[in-house]
Amino acid sequence: MNAQVEQPSTLHAIPHLIGGKESFGTSGRWSGVYNPATGLASGRVALASSAEVGQAVGAAAAAFPAWAATTPLNRARVMFRFKELVERHADELAALITSEHGKVQADARGEVTRGLEVIEFACGIPHLLKGEHSQNVGREVDSWSEFAPLGVVAGITPFNFPCMVPMWMFPVALACGNTFVLKPSERDPSTANRLAELLREAGLPDGVFNVVHGDKEAVDALLDDPCVEAVSFVGSTPIAEYIYERGARAGKRVQALGGAKNHLVMMPDADPQLVAQALLGAAYGSAGERCMAISVAVCVGDAAADALVATLKPMVETLRIGNGARGNPDMGPLVTRQHLDRVIGYVDLGVAEGAQLLVDGRGIRVEGHPGGFFLGGCLFDHVQPHMRIYREEIFGPVLCVVRVPDLARATALLDAHEYGNGCAIFTRDGGAAREFAHRVQVGMVGINVPIPVPMAFHSFGGWKRSLFGPLHMHGPDGVRFYTRLKTITARWPDEVRAEFVMPTMK
Ligand code: NAD
Repeated sequence: MNAQVEQPSTLHAIPHLIGGKESFGTSGRWSGVYNPATGLASGRVALASSAEVGQAVGAAAAAFPAWAATTPLNRARVMFRFKELVERHADELAALITSEHGKVQADARGEVTRGLEVIEFACGIPHLLKGEHSQNVGREVDSWSEFAPLGVVAGITPFNFPCMVPMWMFPVALACGNTFVLKPSERDPSTANRLAELLREAGLPDGVFNVVHGDKEAVDALLDDPCVEAVSFVGSTPIAEYIYERGARAGKRVQALGGAKNHLVMMPDADPQLVAQALLGAAYGSAGERCMAISVAVCVGDAAADALVATLKPMVETLRIGNGARGNPDMGPLVTRQHLDRVIGYVDLGVAEGAQLLVDGRGIRVEGHPGGFFLGGCLFDHVQPHMRIYREEIFGPVLCVVRVPDLARATALLDAHEYGNGCAIFTRDGGAAREFAHRVQVGMVGINVPIPVPMAFHSFGGWKRSLFGPLHMHGPDGVRFYTRLKTITARWPDEVRAEFVMPTMK
């Protein structure tokens, strides 16, 4: 984690928001927040101790009974007002995201829009919470189901979507009648605070939504607090697995989304120009710091690979890299120096492992930004499945081309990979696409769609070690995750006689 205890006290301090009030806590621990385009510190964020986490959970627990008793229609009205506020402040939110994450502002605006779609989904909560009803399941017996909120639920989120990923969680959780404690990434914490302010402005009562910033100490406190009923997590696989195990051991409901290595399969009949354009955005957009970024192009046949590489190489070489806040470049910087060094380490490793580095983005200079965390696009050809640059998630602007002889071998490659978040196939052959989509062991599949992120009214989640827990995020699974099902069977008899055999409907 990027926690640093010593941070100059002159830096802008980013507080927790607990029970509607700002608090800097008493831990005395802070983490630096940087503008990745300049490399300069822009603020410092308070790191919560377990005591502060306890206060946030306490505030959420106190707010729960009244919020759960608020009618779904009135909870939806808060969501409608919140949606309008997020729309009105979308550019401001995008600027905030860019200033701490580094992604290009238009891309940050897209992230806000994808989050807004989940709010729009949550606005339909009166309809979504309608249970099922069966009349006369037996003579004069009716049965129906209800969805009850869980109580206090927590969200722990990654740096790469500081607006959208929290919004995968809390609009649905709040609309279902839960109260929420969000622990955002300490690398870009400010967007979460702004969203909390907008929720308050939308009329959300104090304590229903709280933000605590922090590192492992705060996360562990949330996982161990008996008042937290459920935990939603998005981040890297080792932490996702840890969250799932520790949360489940404490008796909580957990959904923990992890890392990815998303493959795009290029069939021999696919148009190289079209595939190259799709890959350029999918592999290098947001500097590859997307869980649905394509990081492997699997070409079926050497002819397809040669055509793709010939088309793609000059495009990667001429990617426009710069400060995401200015002039709309193709790619901004990576999030931190530490992450930049890690990604460069992988490029060095790929060369050492014997892959062919066709485009080398190391050592790039962006004018006027000598301290920025910039890396140019990198393209490897002849990557082999045993190489670490193929097996491990790099999470940067690095694309690996792997060559296979046929579709069966391509599918087997994806199935053997540890991760199963997203994938895509590019082809004109409907039969091959259908076969691939149904067979492949991956949670989200695109057919001629490079980044198949489901819309808010569907659910988002991968397979294998990209997701721990049975339920995906938002959409129908989101409502299921944040509610407990109750089934009621009712009869209004004139008399009741004891029955000693298993009750059956006669
Ligand atoms: P990360 O795992 O380092 O951090 C995620 C969250 O966990 C943060 O809030 C962080 O403070 C906390 N955390 C970090 N280390 C911890 C520890 N030891 N104990 C307890 N909590 C800890 O992830 P990141 O670098 O912020 O984000 C990038 C990762 O997230 C990538 O692996 C990416 O694939 C993944 N991601 C996945 C999805 C998805 O939908 N599957 C979406 C976005 C990002």
